[in-house]
Amino acid sequence: MPDKVLTCQNCQSPFVYSEYEQARDAKENKPAAIYCPICASIKARQVQHPPKPTKK
Ligand SMILES: [Zn+2]
Repeated sequence: MPDKVLTCQNCQSPFVYSEYEQARDAKENKPAAIYCPICASIKARQVQHPPKPTKK
């Protein structure tokens, strides 16, 4: 599997989805990366610490 260059679905920047990452995600049954590493880390942080709902 060669390295792939994908386009981030968040910031539209091209990023390398490496052979190593493809193999790791396939092994862990994860979907292919759709975000660049920067956006992926931001998204991961949002999942761990979602914004608090505003009180009415
Ligand atoms: Zn991005």
